[in-house]
Amino acid sequence: YAAKHSRQSLVIFDQALHDGVEAEFELFSALKKALNANQLSVFYQPLVCGHNNEVHGMEALLRWRDASGTFISPMTFIPIAEKNNYIKQISAFVIEQVFAQLDDFLAIEPGVTVHINLSSQDFQGRYLINQLVELQTKYDVQPSRIVFELTESMVMLDVEQAKYMIGVLIDMGFAVSIDDFGTGFSSFSMLRELPISQIKIDRSFISACLDSDKDQAIVETTIYLANRLGCSVVAEGVEDSKTAAYLNAKGCHYLQGYYISEALERDSAKHWLHSHRMVKKVLKR
Ligand code: C2E
Ligand code: MG
Ligand code: MG
Ligand code: MG
Repeated sequence: YAAKHSRQSLVIFDQALHDGVEAEFELFSALKKALNANQLSVFYQPLVCGHNNEVHGMEALLRWRDASGTFISPMTFIPIAEKNNYIKQISAFVIEQVFAQLDDFLAIEPGVTVHINLSSQDFQGRYLINQLVELQTKYDVQPSRIVFELTESMVMLDVEQAKYMIGVLIDMGFAVSIDDFGTGFSSFSMLRELPISQIKIDRSFISACLDSDKDQAIVETTIYLANRLGCSVVAEGVEDSKTAAYLNAKGCHYLQGYYISEALERDSAKHWLHSHRMVKKVLKR
């Protein structure tokens, strides 16, 4: 019985693995088609100053709406693009969209920065740098308006290469922000060795911080650390006014999350920037 049983489960396991690989392959083919069929678009989520409500930036977040109109999350397709060596194409698309969009945002809000998420593969080879040089010329982009968001895990993969690439980005005039701060491992040495401009405290520390002493200890220490290092600090995933008030009281510079706004399609993002500015003007009077 045991032999038969184990053989059976082996067959079942194989089948599941096979289905998984097949599904992934199909999703990857669909992703390639989607990029060519204009089914991918860049949405923008605002980051605001918690103290004066001034807009700090707009984070570019990729959206894939398939032919049936359903959204496929970047948490699903970015890892598949990474596995299949397709990040290069994805990043080229996002960077070009953002560079083409930037002037529009700047016309409404001259102080705004646009944040772009990178993947570990973007640090392999020179294509990212080549792309940036080319697109910067094509769209006449001021590099100080662009912030690249990197995660600690991206850097862990090849620390020396990552340090080199971050150095090149900073030399080119771009700003660098550490995304999902606190969930990786290399943060302190990165902060020590590189002129990082910003730390984004991961949502997992923010979402339940009002009920957790440990989360508060981590959040408050990170805010202190950022201040000591001369970095700005952002809280991601702020969903309610109480959390926003707590973060403001603790001196967190910027807030991002559904409490302020979700990620918005390009025209809605422009509209949001515009009305945010109008509301501020009215309140000032
Ligand atoms: P991330 O860069 O940490 O982005 C934050 C994610 O949290 C976004 O999910 C955003 O929509 C979501 N979020 C923002 N505020 C809240 C909130 O208050 N509550 C909750 N529950 N969620 C909130 P999204 O857009 O699904 O992106 C997920 C991840 O996919 C991003 O995490 C980023 O790592 C990656 N990603 C997205 N766009 C790109 C891209 O263009 N390139 C690359 N390489 N990665 C991307
Ligand atoms: Mg990000
Ligand atoms: Mg993040
Ligand atoms: Mg995150």
